[in-house]
Amino acid sequence: NLSTKLDRAFKTLKGQGSITDVNVASTVKEIRRALIDADVNYKVAKQVTDKIKEEALGQDVLISVSPGQLFIKIVSDELTKLMGGSAEPLSTEGSPAIILISGLQGSGKTTFSGKLASLIKKQGKDVLLTACDIYRPAAIDQLKVLGEQVGVDVYAEPENKNAVEIANNALDYAKKNGKKVVIVDTAGRLAVDEQMMDEIAALKKSLNPTETLFVVDSMTGQDAVNTAKAFNDRLDFNGVVLTKLDGDTRGGAALSIRTVVEKPIKFISYGEKMEALDVFHPDRMAQRILGMGDVVSLVERAQQAFDEEEAMRINKKIRKNQFNFEDFLSQLQQIKKMGNIKDLIGMLPGMGKMVKDLDIDDNAFKPIEAIIKSMTPQERKNPELLDGSRRRRIAQGSGTTIQDVNKLLKQFNDMRKLMKTMNKFQGGRRGMPTMN
Ligand code: GDP
Ligand code: MG
Repeated sequence: NLSTKLDRAFKTLKGQGSITDVNVASTVKEIRRALIDADVNYKVAKQVTDKIKEEALGQDVLISVSPGQLFIKIVSDELTKLMGGSAEPLSTEGSPAIILISGLQGSGKTTFSGKLASLIKKQGKDVLLTACDIYRPAAIDQLKVLGEQVGVDVYAEPENKNAVEIANNALDYAKKNGKKVVIVDTAGRLAVDEQMMDEIAALKKSLNPTETLFVVDSMTGQDAVNTAKAFNDRLDFNGVVLTKLDGDTRGGAALSIRTVVEKPIKFISYGEKMEALDVFHPDRMAQRILGMGDVVSLVERAQQAFDEEEAMRINKKIRKNQFNFEDFLSQLQQIKKMGNIKDLIGMLPGMGKMVKDLDIDDNAFKPIEAIIKSMTPQERKNPELLDGSRRRRIAQGSGTTIQDVNKLLKQFNDMRKLMKTMNKFQGGRRGMPTMN
């Protein structure tokens, strides 16, 4: 599976501190291949992996988790974001609300109409199903059977061949009978054609629906994107329903469609039973696309454990007055991992506006990191060793000035003094609160 493949691609990375340009290339290739395997459109897969590469570069690799797993976490987060981040609700406001269902023949429109009617009914709203598939008499019967099954009225006019007329009559019926939501099931063709598009476009124009949903079979893979694009160009729909996600389809269509037409996926359908309907959750779909089960939570847990362990270790050193530059560097890196410094400060109450005028950025830490990294391990552990000639060497090595080095050493010594004093006050029983 992808996780093992990534682990292999990352073998060279073990022991290195972070993900770099060199070691990221082969991994990105693996991810692209996995996405295409999961039916993600080729262009979309490339777009996505370019973004992921940017995101992954420079991330710290944790000891307790394999780089491949960490990478999967990054990928999964990115996919989630690309698919909209969180679930998008369906609006059923209106008097009545009108939900127009579009899509190719066999995509699952009629089945979905029944499921949606059932769901809305369970939410306590009176629903009307409307049969506007005027080409196949069997389609009306199919909707009637489903309506009966879920206990929802079905409006149909078997003799009428005008879909717009039927839909408007259904609307009148709904208003007279206190229905709050009208679902309009329509006809589809096996492929996109003009007559079908004209018909559904005319329905949309006449009804002005609350929601126009596009239903698409996720098993059609790459074709799903083209169909979605054709419907969106003509209909400008406002939500997508992905069907037939039972079986082993991996849902790549979700990512492709979302990226290409930029419309939210609202529901997924995963079976012929009326209960097999779910609100679309981008994070779950990301996991499905990657086919990785619990890898994400594993990485999250490891990351947390790492942070806690590190915090405890440093606390202990502070208590023993052994805090040194290595610990300092580790703390800096923890802060960086939490995100952008400006954003972090901006989250404090009342700080949002102030931060805008302040000139803080993550670069502020760069010279400090550079100075510490130019010290030998020996010097980091024993800052007392840092005499004039060593300081000159460090300034040169880090691209800073000797004044910068002196300033940092002074701040560091002040900090240690403060820690010592605090330890005295607390009788050495408790340490300073750490930075994370
Ligand atoms: P329509 O032509 O768009 O109205 O499509 P239908 O609702 O008639 O569905 C076409 C076929 O797909 C039927 O046999 C349905 O039972 C089946 N179907 C619909 N949705 C799903 C689904 O989510 N999973 C599976 N396995 N089959 C489905
Ligand atoms: Mg149908």
